[in-house]
Amino acid sequence: MMTADREGPSLPDRPARQGDATLDARGQARAPAAAAAATDPRGEDRQGSVSSFALYVHIPYCLAKCPYCDFNSYAVARWPEQRYLAALLGEMGRRAEEPPWRGTPAKTLFFGGGTPSLFAPESIEAILDRADSLFGIEPGAEITLEANPGTVDRAKLEGLRRAGVNRLSVGAQSFRPATLETLGRNHDADQTRQAVRLARRAGFEQLNLDLIYAVPGQTSDDVVRDVREAVALEPDHVSAYCLTFEPGTQFHSLMKSGRLLPPSADRQADFLGAVNRELASSAFERYEISNYARPGCQARHNLAYWRAEPYLGLGAGAHSFGPAGGRWRRWWNERSPERYCEAVLGGAARLAETGEEWPEGRGLAGEFVFLNLRLQRGFALLDFERRTGCSFGDLFSSEAARLVDAGLLRIAEGRVRLTERGLELADSVFACFV
Ligand code: SF4
Repeated sequence: MMTADREGPSLPDRPARQGDATLDARGQARAPAAAAAATDPRGEDRQGSVSSFALYVHIPYCLAKCPYCDFNSYAVARWPEQRYLAALLGEMGRRAEEPPWRGTPAKTLFFGGGTPSLFAPESIEAILDRADSLFGIEPGAEITLEANPGTVDRAKLEGLRRAGVNRLSVGAQSFRPATLETLGRNHDADQTRQAVRLARRAGFEQLNLDLIYAVPGQTSDDVVRDVREAVALEPDHVSAYCLTFEPGTQFHSLMKSGRLLPPSADRQADFLGAVNRELASSAFERYEISNYARPGCQARHNLAYWRAEPYLGLGAGAHSFGPAGGRWRRWWNERSPERYCEAVLGGAARLAETGEEWPEGRGLAGEFVFLNLRLQRGFALLDFERRTGCSFGDLFSSEAARLVDAGLLRIAEGRVRLTERGLELADSVFACFV
């Protein structure tokens, strides 16, 4: 996933991760009754309709499981593409009959995984065609597909472009053989360079490269050279993720047993500083904690998540979020691809859903705050009020005062945002709003 990976091991940017445990534990004790009923954000009205939404499609298969990966992905030698495709189309058809998605166009689409580039262009085209006929895809919609460099060739990239994909997210991760080996990646730097060249020739207008830093054994010089090699390929967007050791992964076990040591916090900060300096000197703006773009090239799909806008996720383990009957609902699907297919193709009444929650009041407001604070421009106080029906000062005055005094938060010109120092300590800031 992380790109094929949206391979960012610590990514907050897809439905499959939004709504994970961090979103489950909202304090809702002080929820004002008015807050949930007053939702009126960015085109969503109080009856639960929306003017557009972000559509995410999860393809959970990979050729191998990377030892740091905690995404909902499965190593397979062969994958049941037709059966999984039928389930995706079936789920999409059922969702298109329900509010708020019924009659609502998709403004962005994102194929994540897993390794979506394992699927044939014809399968991707079938999904896009069905989405267009069921929902409508807005003209100029951003349509992204995550690609593992080892899984694409010229014919596949040309086929994907013809199918309608216009943005490719390539899971480079590193250009150093030793780093790629530590990460257990099954591609090399030449395959990344070749994938990028072929993608440009195939006509992809937007290109993202994923990088991972703070890998055991990496030096600052390695990180600088990785960023420079990525920039040399002239991407429009770079996602640079600090490696995390998530429970349940092989890396986590190795760390626990002392056989793999993460770099110290100071070293990680040095690496991040190097990433920031290198990308800034090449005219990439750091517009989100882990994301950098050339002017006009921000990832529109991911912006919908960070702005807490509605999204529909299809596929095994996918998460969705949207208005429902004047409240907000988040739900998620069965994680196992086989059980997901059985449920959808078997006609289960609630499709493959395995859980839901109804964030409201202070919990919903806190979620809006810490998602939006990931963005360099933060959020407008007016948008906060539209979403919650309350003023930011009423709900979070003491937290905000403390963070402003500590130099971590800035409130000015009708917007709330993190300071430079706040960006460095973002997790601690977010914890104040959970
Ligand atoms: S196993 Fe590897 S390729 Fe597959 S989603 Fe995870 S990081 Fe990406």
